[in-house]
Amino acid sequence: MKVKKMLVTCATLLSAGLICTTIGCAEKGRCRWIVHDMSRPRPPVVTPGEQPGQPPSGAIVLFDGKDASQWVSNKDGGPVRWKVENGYMEVVKETGDIRTKQSFGDCRLHIEWATPARVNGSGQDTGNSGVFLMSNYEVQILDSYSSKTYADGQAAALYGRRPPSVNACRPPGQWQSFDIIFHRPIFKGGKVRRRATFTVLHNGVLVHDHYELPGGTGWRGPHAISEYEEHPDKLPILLQDHDSAVRFRNIWLVELP
Ligand code: MG
Repeated sequence: MKVKKMLVTCATLLSAGLICTTIGCAEKGRCRWIVHDMSRPRPPVVTPGEQPGQPPSGAIVLFDGKDASQWVSNKDGGPVRWKVENGYMEVVKETGDIRTKQSFGDCRLHIEWATPARVNGSGQDTGNSGVFLMSNYEVQILDSYSSKTYADGQAAALYGRRPPSVNACRPPGQWQSFDIIFHRPIFKGGKVRRRATFTVLHNGVLVHDHYELPGGTGWRGPHAISEYEEHPDKLPILLQDHDSAVRFRNIWLVELP
């Protein structure tokens, strides 16, 4: 079919209020552009980081190893009381969780972390922390290299909901990474209309593939898992103080449209 004829066919169908499925349309069900249409807007140019894991241009750098000013204490909204030194920040026991000053919804987050090199505990008491998207939905941080715990609470688990598909943990003391693509839940009339989804790579290994989170991730005991509770469209990202000196570095985020 010639290009002109395809366009005429598409235009006719659209004007009739019908969905265009004509072969030659660039996207099924839509007819704004034909295949290989030179008038289709090209994606914006983004300069990638120089090394894998480095923020691309346009990313929001939340922690560069020195400056924790993008974060506040979740206890009182005051300055972070975690240690910031040698290119990382480290949880100081009992100073509380920290959260970003900015709020976010859909996003792609990169974060690097290390559990203490000296193992001092077991189960949930060794290298426990967590990354909470929208302050609510936890991707677990734990030393799951040298210690065993329940599967839905090990490192990279969506806490209490879903174990990672594989255990990609590095030994304690070594730097590890999460790359998280998160789509927020959508609420209407107090009820969840679209559940949150998570895609997570742990040390570059896919451990959750567009997983639809059935509800909250809070610890409520084995038989009383939390359900979704309506919240704003954007909320801070939160890092957990779980009494373990977990370190963080190179944290950045790209908001998704
Ligand atoms: Mg945790």
